Amino acid sequence: MSRSKPNILVTGTPGVGKTTFCEALAAATSLDHLEVSKIVREKRLYREWDDELDCSIFDEEMVQDALEPLLEPGGCVVDFHSSSFLDESLLDLVVVLRVDTSTLYDRLEKRHYPESKVKQNVEAEIFQSCLDEVREVFEETDIQIWEMPHDTEEQMEAALERVQEFTRTFA
Ligand code: ADP
Ligand code: MN
Ligand code: MN
Repeated sequence: MSRSKPNILVTGTPGVGKTTFCEALAAATSLDHLEVSKIVREKRLYREWDDELDCSIFDEEMVQDALEPLLEPGGCVVDFHSSSFLDESLLDLVVVLRVDTSTLYDRLEKRHYPESKVKQNVEAEIFQSCLDEVREVFEETDIQIWEMPHDTEEQMEAALERVQEFTRTFA
């Protein structure tokens, strides 16, 4: 299957700036932003609720079924913290956004996350859980994995520039 435009997964711990980055990328290109957590909420693609963290536990199969037809034609930026359920044949590039511990802490506090949820996410960033997941899922594939710092506006601009270049030269 060939696509004229790439599908790009933008992943990372909650608070690294995925949605901010994807909105800017979609505005600067003809790519469409798929905010998966919003789709999960709106289409109720979950069967369980995590009481401790007060969030849904998305259903991988339901999310997969919802995303596949959208990704098939290409030209999507997928905005999600998890990558394990995405078929590699549907993706061309994976961007993992990274931030310093103090940056993430500040951003999640501003979001009024409960302390336990702040701590859990900061730990996930320290242990590079998203990056490890991506490496594990895509290690046997040709898909490029770009780990990019995202603490500042300047870093976001630099990351946007590189991903736009990838999109422009995609064939
Ligand atoms: P995510 O979608 O990964 O949870 P968001 O895009 O919602 O993250 O960003 C979380 C917060 O961090 C927002 O307040 C956003 O304005 C800020 N932010 C995101 N990226 C950057 C950046 N590169 N530099 C400075 N602030 C950023
Ligand atoms: Mn988001
Ligand atoms: Mn496959």
